[in-house]
Amino acid sequence: MTTDWIALEERYYAQTVRRQPVVLVRGQGTRVWDVEGKEYLDFTAGWAVTNLGHCHPVMVQAIQEQAALLIQTSNQFYTVPQLKLAQALIDNSCLDRVFFGNSGAEAVEGALKLARKYGKKNRDGAYQVITAYNSFHGRTMSTIAATGQPHYQEAFQPLTPGFVHVEYDSVEAIIAATNDETAAVMLEPIQGEGGVNIPADDYLRRVRDWCDKQGLLLILDEVQTGLGRLGSLFGYQEYGVEPDVMTLAKGLGGGVPIGAFLSKEHCMALEPGDHGSTFGGNALTTAAAYASTKHIIDNDLPGQAKAMGLRLTQRLEELKSRFSFISEVRGRGLLIALEFDDDVAAKALSLSNEAGVLFNMVKPNTLRLMPPLTISAEEVDEGVGRLEQALSKL
Ligand SMILES: *Cc1c(COP(=O)(O)O)cnc(C)c1O
Repeated sequence: MTTDWIALEERYYAQTVRRQPVVLVRGQGTRVWDVEGKEYLDFTAGWAVTNLGHCHPVMVQAIQEQAALLIQTSNQFYTVPQLKLAQALIDNSCLDRVFFGNSGAEAVEGALKLARKYGKKNRDGAYQVITAYNSFHGRTMSTIAATGQPHYQEAFQPLTPGFVHVEYDSVEAIIAATNDETAAVMLEPIQGEGGVNIPADDYLRRVRDWCDKQGLLLILDEVQTGLGRLGSLFGYQEYGVEPDVMTLAKGLGGGVPIGAFLSKEHCMALEPGDHGSTFGGNALTTAAAYASTKHIIDNDLPGQAKAMGLRLTQRLEELKSRFSFISEVRGRGLLIALEFDDDVAAKALSLSNEAGVLFNMVKPNTLRLMPPLTISAEEVDEGVGRLEQALSKL
């Protein structure tokens, strides 16, 4: 059965992604089942997306009700779920205005257009955006140029101009890279796809100060860190700074494709006609995202992520003291990396699959753990138990 579906993929699908040999057909909470009926604990959550777990009743109900009511209208008209979601995000963040797209890359594209226009209007045509090495901002032509990882860029030269890459977690590097053409600095509060890289506690605060001094926009790409993942509703709250512009996607829709960029009033340079989207902010995805976001806020899921993140980190530290080949456990909230001192992550991943727990390999020597924010203490322990079983075979 599994092999039949894999053969179909090999025959028909563009061979651009390296998949695990698992064909998933059903999910409930933190668990998923494959086509053979095998059950797994899902510590990937659709890549930090299914924040309420799989098929949470609140999500299912919101999607079913909205699907029966109205799915898509285009933005030629007003729709109710879009405006309810907009209000929920603005009322619960430091930002003043929001635009909805369909993915993280689209959210970043929108933020970049905003920065270009802002530079044109307010900074004498400044257009450069400073981003960090090992960052990840998406896979479209401009977001790969923003992304500070050459292996995403090399085959697609020439890249969109206007990006300057600097070392992450170095304010001095940003200061040195700033010039008359600089319009914005764009950073992830914690680099997710780049390996769960956590900056010094005062990094964002000091970057904020520099941006204020120079009149630069600070864009925080919270596509991965937003909506509770780090233990606060937004990552910037963990670091006591306010961005001028913020992007969201992954956890925003709880599983449906939606992205957003949000901006403070003073830098919302975009005007009627400057930006748009056919599907962006449609009634179905915003109804789902509203249900998910409201549930996260009403039930303090960021607080739960913080508590479960501490428990998970502690359990992993116990594994580290047992297995000498684990070199580091690091994370914040429920965004955690397990690093090995050898390139054994692929082997650890496939043994974990067998043991019934799913992880993401973020580097050849690193697994990334990002379970649903709703994960229970028992599920944390059970998942780590299955991981332990896998690692004892390494
Ligand atoms: C995943 C990610 C993106 C891209 O999101 P897509 O929905 O895959 O386009 C952008 N920025 C960050 C920080 C991400 O983690």
